[in-house]
Amino acid sequence: MREQRTPRPGSGPRRAGARAGLIVLGIVAAAVLAPSAPVRRAATTSKPSGPAPELARIRYWTAPDHTRLVFDLTGPPAGGPRYRFADSLTFEVYLPMTRKSPAVSTEFVGDSLVADIFPAVSDSGCAIRIRLQRATTPLGFFLAAVDGNPDRLVIDVPAPVNPEVEQAITRRVTELKQSKKLIVAIDAGHGGEDPGAIGHRRLQEADITLSIAKKLKAQLDLMPGVSAVLTRSGDYFIPLRNRVDLARRYQADLLISIHCNASRDRDATGTEIYFLSLTGATDEAARNVAEKENAADLVGGVSPDTGDDLLSILFDLRQNDTIRRSSELAEVLIDAVGADSRLVTRGVKQAGFVVLKAPEIPSVLVETAFVTNPREAAILRDAQFQAKFAELLANGIETYKNQHLRANSN
Ligand SMILES: [Zn+2]
Repeated sequence: MREQRTPRPGSGPRRAGARAGLIVLGIVAAAVLAPSAPVRRAATTSKPSGPAPELARIRYWTAPDHTRLVFDLTGPPAGGPRYRFADSLTFEVYLPMTRKSPAVSTEFVGDSLVADIFPAVSDSGCAIRIRLQRATTPLGFFLAAVDGNPDRLVIDVPAPVNPEVEQAITRRVTELKQSKKLIVAIDAGHGGEDPGAIGHRRLQEADITLSIAKKLKAQLDLMPGVSAVLTRSGDYFIPLRNRVDLARRYQADLLISIHCNASRDRDATGTEIYFLSLTGATDEAARNVAEKENAADLVGGVSPDTGDDLLSILFDLRQNDTIRRSSELAEVLIDAVGADSRLVTRGVKQAGFVVLKAPEIPSVLVETAFVTNPREAAILRDAQFQAKFAELLANGIETYKNQHLRANSN
């Protein structure tokens, strides 16, 4: 959830400042010079106006299968970007009629895909040279300003397809299935460009969710008959549908998505656990929580040609049974976390969260506590509290496994 975000002036290059704001996703069609140049096209929804935009900041994140480069602009792009390969390992982006802030200079990325980024200006625009470590085809698209994030040119640099990596994942999936263990997919909300809610003393939701998710995985992996997989293991953005796809690929038996709540009311406190509703939310507040969590794709930036096959999933006949199991899981987990006297439980609720739409996987979303409440922000930061919360969730999963999975398989 990302209510009450605050800008982060002076924050590091990997952090996106954010505040509550109008959510609009606009994609500007990109012009292509080189025939082999990658481009994604969509209807123009944002028209340049006013002075020429300036390249204000370069940010990047390393994910296991790609590196994301983000070029923040001070306004809508003045013209479509042009892409070309200067040689097989040098990819160039040209932004016409764009200036460059003096603060922007060479970025040494140095991960397995990108060596460095060198921006330069001429009279007619801004040229950005990206030196690649390996031959691959970057993909570029524009994102219009949203939720405190500026207009952005995004360049995703994918890792070349590696059959060995694919085979290793397939082997792992088979191994997990043959083990007959309960497979729990743990989803740490937000990450990368999307820091989630910003709370008291700039506490970032994405950091807390990852920390609790890792601790929960460690707890579950210690339990006999249980094995956990993480949808993300570092600070990078994953679209909501990819989180669901990953859980389905691992044939997870359960999905637990970890989040932190936020409110303009500093006094708001407590833990909520959600399961999917296909027909409306428990109440207005629950609907708002789902809307804000679902906006992650707009903030993090999903490229325009990403379809939404989750819509078809809605009509899957298995969904009703999965929702019943999800509600049982949510009830068991809220009882389990209620054992910590530092937390007030706000109960189990329903809303239309995209990340809970796997048709065959009982899925719940845990709003741990409020990052905007000074007392709860303090406990969320505390590694011992995070470990305790993970332990309580793990206890709940064990209870669910013992009480419900046997009943459901009869
Ligand atoms: Zn969240």
